[in-house]
Amino acid sequence: MQIQNYINGQLHPAQSGGWLDNFNPSNGQVYSQIPDSDAADVQAAVEAAEAAFPAWSTCGVNERYRILHRIADLIRERLEELAQAESKDSGKAITTSRTVDIPRAEANIRFFATAILHFGSESHQMEGMAVNYTLRQPIGVVGCISPWNLPLYLFTWKIAPALAAGNCVVAKPSELTPMTGFLLSKICIEAGLPAGVLNIVHGLGPKAGQAIVEHPKIKAVSFTGGTSTGRILARTAAPMFKKLSLELGGKNPNVIFADCNFEEAVSTTVRSSFANNGQICLCGSRVYIERPIYEKFRDELVRRAKNLKVGDPFDAGTDLGSLVSKQHREKVQGYLALAREEGGTVLCGGEPVELPGELSGGYYLSPAVVEGLPNACRTNQEEIFGPVVTLQPFDTEEEALALANGVEYGLASTIWTSDISRAARVAERIQAGIVWINCWMVRDLRTPFGGVKNSGVGREGGTEALRFFTEAKNVCIKY
Ligand code: NAD
Repeated sequence: MQIQNYINGQLHPAQSGGWLDNFNPSNGQVYSQIPDSDAADVQAAVEAAEAAFPAWSTCGVNERYRILHRIADLIRERLEELAQAESKDSGKAITTSRTVDIPRAEANIRFFATAILHFGSESHQMEGMAVNYTLRQPIGVVGCISPWNLPLYLFTWKIAPALAAGNCVVAKPSELTPMTGFLLSKICIEAGLPAGVLNIVHGLGPKAGQAIVEHPKIKAVSFTGGTSTGRILARTAAPMFKKLSLELGGKNPNVIFADCNFEEAVSTTVRSSFANNGQICLCGSRVYIERPIYEKFRDELVRRAKNLKVGDPFDAGTDLGSLVSKQHREKVQGYLALAREEGGTVLCGGEPVELPGELSGGYYLSPAVVEGLPNACRTNQEEIFGPVVTLQPFDTEEEALALANGVEYGLASTIWTSDISRAARVAERIQAGIVWINCWMVRDLRTPFGGVKNSGVGREGGTEALRFFTEAKNVCIKY
């Protein structure tokens, strides 16, 4: 099967005629190909987007609302087809695709379709003299580049606000998980999205992705991916004065105080550690436990991690499917070897799981819990982005904060305590863009989403995203 680019309302192969293999990570087989697009395809996409911009940016919010809702309706109708495609492409458990990825893609589009109807701008009065009002106008052609871990979920999280605000988009999904982006192209055609409003170019990051970031007509880029890629984007875009939103890597702490609700804390920590095989930017990978409950918590976490079912992604009873690629599993295993070298003890997991028959070539790994490592070691400092967590005890609130803040990242965090004052105190001082108290992954799409330090620049979500995808123009009238 050959995936196509979606340019100017039509499906095309890459102009070069080149193709890249697309793997099914659950069995290690090539099952489709994607266009190996380059600057020529991006150029065609930008031309289509530029041509579509005058009509799309002025058709009015009600029309954009109507078409975006139609796209969301079709996503809902095709939920099962999209979920199957997502799991086949990424290896994630089908239950995750059905209950998280695809419903959230639908919700993203509906949310921003509606948000644009309520999006206002400021007015500043200078009494007796003048009034200022601010227009928030679409930027023009914008780029959206997304990663493989939540493919359609993160792709739509960017595209929806860009389109709702009246921009035309050149977007690229990850080359590892292109399939639902391709299915979205077909949905957009069926929904009647005007040609050129959204263009989806498939291919490699350094080639097709780089061509998007470099293109002089693309005035803003919203990117989610690794911190090192984010650096390349920043270097490329800065001299061109492009607007950039960078959602990058994480090394998120879970801070667990002895007065927490033990059952809630441990069951949620299992999820926050291993959901989607730890391949969610919001997963907690460093678990800090107050000493009086350290051993009890550790033993329970290990017991439950061992009980997680690693298996066929298409079996509804599977907790963890395969990792996304051979290279990624090797990277995660490399970190487990490093953890041992650095003096850590792997309490459970970290072993390749061999499944029988057709699935024998898949990239399965059992979830790992590691203890005995200092905070400063590489295992505790670098993003692994797999089913691996480390545990460390702490004695005081101050020490917990120093440990939690002692990395270069600052995306998300969780705090577990029944002391509301302490929760508020720690939340105020923790270096992260997102703090969950006694919960994890409770998401309200209106809230600002993003990280500090090496986890990124800018915020997505709600009004933040609509502001990113618009330019503010102040108009002053003297009277
Ligand atoms: P990646 O940086 O390798 O790739 C992300 C996207 O960028 C892909 O589409 C890729 O093709 C493209 N790309 C690569 N090089 C490029 C270049 N030079 N120019 C333009 N585009 C380029 O990341 P990944 O491995 O796909 O995703 C995993 C990373 O994403 C992890 O670090 C994870 O923490 C991060 N992530 C962050 C968030 C967040 O919200 N902060 C969410 C999900 C994932």
